[in-house]
Amino acid sequence: MNFGLQNSNPKIMVTGGTGFVGKAIKRYKPDWIYVSSKDCDLTDKEQTYDYFNRIKPDAIIHLAAKVGGIKSASENQADFLYLNSLINLNVIHEAYRASVPRVLSCLSTCCFPDFSDKYPLVEEDLLKGEPTITNYCYAYAKRVLFLQSKYYSECYGVNYNTFTPSNIYGPGNSFDFNDSHFISSMIRKFAEAKDGDTLEFWGTGKPLRQHLYVDDLAQIVIVLLEKHLTDSPIIVSPDTNLSIKEHIELCKKISTKDVKIQFDGNLDGQFRKDASNKRMKSLIGDYKFTSIEKGLQKTYEWYYNKNRELL
Ligand code: NAP
Repeated sequence: MNFGLQNSNPKIMVTGGTGFVGKAIKRYKPDWIYVSSKDCDLTDKEQTYDYFNRIKPDAIIHLAAKVGGIKSASENQADFLYLNSLINLNVIHEAYRASVPRVLSCLSTCCFPDFSDKYPLVEEDLLKGEPTITNYCYAYAKRVLFLQSKYYSECYGVNYNTFTPSNIYGPGNSFDFNDSHFISSMIRKFAEAKDGDTLEFWGTGKPLRQHLYVDDLAQIVIVLLEKHLTDSPIIVSPDTNLSIKEHIELCKKISTKDVKIQFDGNLDGQFRKDASNKRMKSLIGDYKFTSIEKGLQKTYEWYYNKNRELL
């Protein structure tokens, strides 16, 4: 089936185009249409339909979401559920009403079950148990997005499907302690530290995480838009799976700061959610991911140079 992408100049729209991932895609595809909440409030059903119907894209990459770190997602479950559900329900249904043939939507490995009897997780595990409590509502809104994409395709003959990235980091991420993710707040702590300081981190340092460099994700999503045409919530994750403590040790080395590290024992989040990239590689080939050492170095330098005068 031709989803419009065979056109020499398909019209591609990216929701969440002003966000961290959207901006990364824009570095590779500057001519696509990048949508912010000011262009169209996706929680508003009629506005969403009018916007999609006016632009009539050949395909939509759907990234828009209320996103936050573990603290923000666990303390604002109702907001995460309500806003993300509204955005997702509207994007999929109004894309269908506006005759958009192709929507590729973004899930997250946070949607996977909190516990599994085998790792790495694979695409079929997505709904096999309750998500972790710290991301419970965010995860459920994403799970419905997966179902909606799958069943709109099945019932209405469109090609709406999903990809599932692991934790994302890189230049341009939020470094605000109130809503940032682990890597950004870790980098900020090291960048602001003085020799002799003790840096405190949440939890025990034991949970495992796969951190995906944002430019790797951007490049992969562009390929998936053309190549990924099944209902699999295809996982996009790097090969490396390190503990929080190992990430901190790497960052300490990069920062060259002589600091002590302390864990407060609270708020570990999900213990592990390492997910297999086997299916992704079988589809797009053996992608060479940015190593965590190189990605952290680039992100640290970006943050440090941007805030040099304050540090
Ligand atoms: P982000 O930087 O927080 O950006 C969110 C984007 O969504 C912004 O462009 C924002 O527009 C838009 N948005 C929010 N509410 C909207 C509304 N009511 N109407 C229209 N647009 C709205 O998020 P991100 O980190 O790029 O995340 C992109 C996707 O990746 C999300 O689906 C997220 O769930 C997923 N993901 C992220 C991570 C991660 O570690 N960051 C990990 C796995 C999956 P404005 O700029 O106008 O506010």
